[in-house]
Amino acid sequence: MGGEWAMVKCDCGRHFGSRGNSKGSCPRCNNSRGLVIIKKYSSSAKLREEVSKANTPLEIIEEITIRLRNYEKSIRRDVNISSNNIDRILSLATLEDSTITIDSLGVSIQKLGIKGMSAQDLIESLEASSIILRKTNDTWSVLQ
Ligand SMILES: [Zn+2]
Repeated sequence: MGGEWAMVKCDCGRHFGSRGNSKGSCPRCNNSRGLVIIKKYSSSAKLREEVSKANTPLEIIEEITIRLRNYEKSIRRDVNISSNNIDRILSLATLEDSTITIDSLGVSIQKLGIKGMSAQDLIESLEASSIILRKTNDTWSVLQ
């Protein structure tokens, strides 16, 4: 055996470091079965270097893409949960020319007594979900 620092490979193709005979669980897919100790090293620095070489840049990019996709999903979910409220806020906040502003959003959030959401946060979520589109610096068009 080459030392107490182990390079472990998961079924999913991800390599990661572990100490001693414990394999831990995969940092990408959280799997703790199907893990194989590939090689052991006597120093943690050497292990780290070999692990980053073993994980090709392509795999890292895939991992980041998956994380980003999950992040975007969670934003949409936030918006969907309160979609009833969003409809009410939007219909109150929409001005005569079919636009909304941070001020008009803020007023309708207050009128409806909705807590835990600022007009700024809401604008960002709505923009991210393509429910509204920025028109000028402080006005947005409602796309629905
Ligand atoms: Zn894995």
